[in-house]
Amino acid sequence: MKHHLIYASCLSLMIFLAACAPVPPSLGPNGEVRLNSGSSSLNSRGVSEFAKLKNQKKISTNRAYRAQLSRVGQRLVRANQLPGNQWEFVVFEDSTPNAFALPGGKIGVHTGLFPITKNDAGLAAVIGHEIAHITSNHAGTRIQQQQGLALGGLVLDSILQSRGGTDSSRAAVGGLYGAGASVGYALPNSRKHELEADKIGAIFMARAGYHPEEAIALWQRFAAYSRKSGSRTPEWLSTHPVDTTRIRSLRAFLPVALKEYKR
Ligand SMILES: [Zn+2]
Repeated sequence: MKHHLIYASCLSLMIFLAACAPVPPSLGPNGEVRLNSGSSSLNSRGVSEFAKLKNQKKISTNRAYRAQLSRVGQRLVRANQLPGNQWEFVVFEDSTPNAFALPGGKIGVHTGLFPITKNDAGLAAVIGHEIAHITSNHAGTRIQQQQGLALGGLVLDSILQSRGGTDSSRAAVGGLYGAGASVGYALPNSRKHELEADKIGAIFMARAGYHPEEAIALWQRFAAYSRKSGSRTPEWLSTHPVDTTRIRSLRAFLPVALKEYKR
């Protein structure tokens, strides 16, 4: 019995340590990009979520948009020799300017985004950014943080129990943790991940022959759109706030990305 207890506590310690193991940065100081395709279980979850979305949402029949997305997406994948993923780029019929990425190499773009991306380079900036979220395993990192929160919730719950907390007080605390930890398939990205995806995305587009300065122009168009749309800020902009810090950070990174620019 005692052995079982020791084993159980070692196991939970191991799980705890694994959850806390530092992830090497996806972007080195000189612009080196480290690819991390994430766990196979997370990737297959992403793939099945995307299959569900394709059943639920209307897929666009706009030939020009579909051809542009396929051209830009494939060029980014080839130029960056991105391995280990079943890359798929789908245009969804939806007027809100939105794009999203799911683990396993699945990227969706709404028809409403194209008037803002305007040209191939503008679209490459968005797709490069979304690919960077996938190749940096940002979703995996977020979920790891979520598991940390869930663990915190459990620990808190058991402390309340041992102190004789009532069922309703436990439920209230548990609910609070749940609300803080729960996110949908579109995981809101942390500011750190956003800036990282911008930089890696700029490198990806430069290697594919799109001038990285076009990324700054794209974010400026987004900022203008954001100002115009006022309180009706679309989902993508609420998880991707465009501000001067963001544009300044990308501009400062431009010389690094330009070294990778292939005409
Ligand atoms: Zn993002």
